[in-house]
Amino acid sequence: MEEGARSCLLQSRSSLEQDIRASYLMDHMISDGVLTGDEEDRIRSKPTRKEQAAALLELLLRKDNQAYISFYNALVRESYGDLASLLHNSLPLVSPEAEKSFSDGGTRYVQAVLSEGGVPQRPVVFVSRPALVNRVREKLYRLQKEPGWVTVFGMAGSGKSVLAAEAVRDHALITECFPGGVHWLSIGQLDRSDLLVRIQSLCFRLEQQSQEKDPSSSLHRPPGSLEEAKERLRFLMLRRYPRSLLILDDIWDSSVLKAFDIQCRVLLTTRDRSLADCVSGSKSEVAVESGLEEDQALEILALYVNGKPQRLPEQARSIVRECKGSPLVVSLIGALLREFPDRWAYYLHTLQQKKFKRIRKSSSYDYDALDQAMAASIQVLSEEHRELYIDLTVLEKDVKVPAKVLSVLWDLEPEEVEDVLQDFVNKSLLFRDCHHRPYLYYLHDLQLDFLAEMNRSGLESLHTKVVRQYQQRYSQGPPTSGDEECLYWFRFLTYHMAKANLTQELCSLMFSLDWVRTKAQIMGPAHLINDYVEYGAILDKEVRGHFQEFLSLNGHQLEQRPFPDVVQLALSQPDSSEVYRQALLQAQERATRG
Ligand code: ADP
Repeated sequence: MEEGARSCLLQSRSSLEQDIRASYLMDHMISDGVLTGDEEDRIRSKPTRKEQAAALLELLLRKDNQAYISFYNALVRESYGDLASLLHNSLPLVSPEAEKSFSDGGTRYVQAVLSEGGVPQRPVVFVSRPALVNRVREKLYRLQKEPGWVTVFGMAGSGKSVLAAEAVRDHALITECFPGGVHWLSIGQLDRSDLLVRIQSLCFRLEQQSQEKDPSSSLHRPPGSLEEAKERLRFLMLRRYPRSLLILDDIWDSSVLKAFDIQCRVLLTTRDRSLADCVSGSKSEVAVESGLEEDQALEILALYVNGKPQRLPEQARSIVRECKGSPLVVSLIGALLREFPDRWAYYLHTLQQKKFKRIRKSSSYDYDALDQAMAASIQVLSEEHRELYIDLTVLEKDVKVPAKVLSVLWDLEPEEVEDVLQDFVNKSLLFRDCHHRPYLYYLHDLQLDFLAEMNRSGLESLHTKVVRQYQQRYSQGPPTSGDEECLYWFRFLTYHMAKANLTQELCSLMFSLDWVRTKAQIMGPAHLINDYVEYGAILDKEVRGHFQEFLSLNGHQLEQRPFPDVVQLALSQPDSSEVYRQALLQAQERATRG
């Protein structure tokens, strides 16, 4: 193996050892002929995942360039995109052809900028859409001299997000137009309090990064209202990140866009072409057709089955036609064919069946192919995994969850959860965001729509399961670590309770001063206030009023750090208030405890 590749492996060794599952990667390496069965057995005989990973790397270091390339490819195929990117720049040049197939157009600098800004990586199997990408880049170049908006619009699942991420994966574009960086924000359908939380976390990210570069700049407390958040963002973009690009992914509502109307450079993806009408500044747009060109869709299928597009069986074109070129559907079918390479006719037939009737059918988008593909992918899961996948029906759209949340939901060990998730990712039934540690997982909106339709009658019991599993795991009190898992529960426990119709439990949770204290400490008061409004209809009106009054009087205090003494604050409520009653009890308890 050449020196650069070996050195890169050594440098990345600890990250690789920490994350990879050797057993998944070795299958690919054996089929590439760079690993023997005996070598695989020796590695498999190691007792733990980490030791297997270390043994594989040790062996790899003694092998040639081809082995490095095969290992890199295996990482890409098994969705370890971020780890693959560590090795990317040291890929040995075997032939010009080989270099071409590995290149993702990004330099180390581009990768660093995009990763810092949270721009998603390419999907595991990816085809380029050069004409479209160039159209977006051309519009982005117009933002070189002045702020403005570029709207990428098209149907759900047409590949807008992938396209937006691809458009900025370009050295010249970033250095010439956006030297201040590229910052990605996933939006989706959200209410004002969720929007506030998203902007808060964007501001936090920006401030933190700018503090790393300039330790004299200070971190502020999170902005408490949307107006304040907008001003904070305006300041950050103007002063600390001039000439940077904000990518707002999947915007539904023009009111959301108004929060970003701060004279900066924005690329947004949306299904609604007219959204940017409500904001000021220069505007341009790019339409994304709902499906890929036939050749591109065939290329995806070929990549999944490791073949050349010209050598695909005759059914391939018909499959692409039935999928209407939808990249999401083609990816689902491609993943199935990778596992069952002799089922071309079978999956074509499956797609041609029109078994599913959507109740809420969009006028412009035909979901039949997606429904068929989803059903076929779910069908090939083992029975156990199928049940676990159905549990994901309860996730909210556009929300990414860490594996730990699923470990609570499924009551499985983290390693078992990893195996299950890997199976779903391999089948394109689930996507992984590798920019975060721990990794976050999510489904495409259309997949969640499908699951919700499929499990309409069981929704209540699925949500009940989430609540019961949470209660079992956290019987001693809620998590307080402030990590992604903890945030998930504070954000969504009330949602699951409401959907499960567990009204009594929802009331006792929301009418508990302890819950209010911990949630406010972890997330700030905005979300709490929103919960009382959102579930107002099912909560006791009088007690709800007590809590809302307490929060509206003390919201600004609850944003302060160090965090104030909530019992003290609550003791200034009128003595008829439930908030006061609980605070008094706690104060008395404190006194007796000394
Ligand atoms: P949208 O944002 O329009 O809803 P996405 O960009 O999220 O759509 O794409 C949906 C899915 O389609 C992706 O998760 C990916 O699996 C697949 N996909 C999209 N574009 C491509 C592409 N260029 N190459 C391969 N797969 C793609």
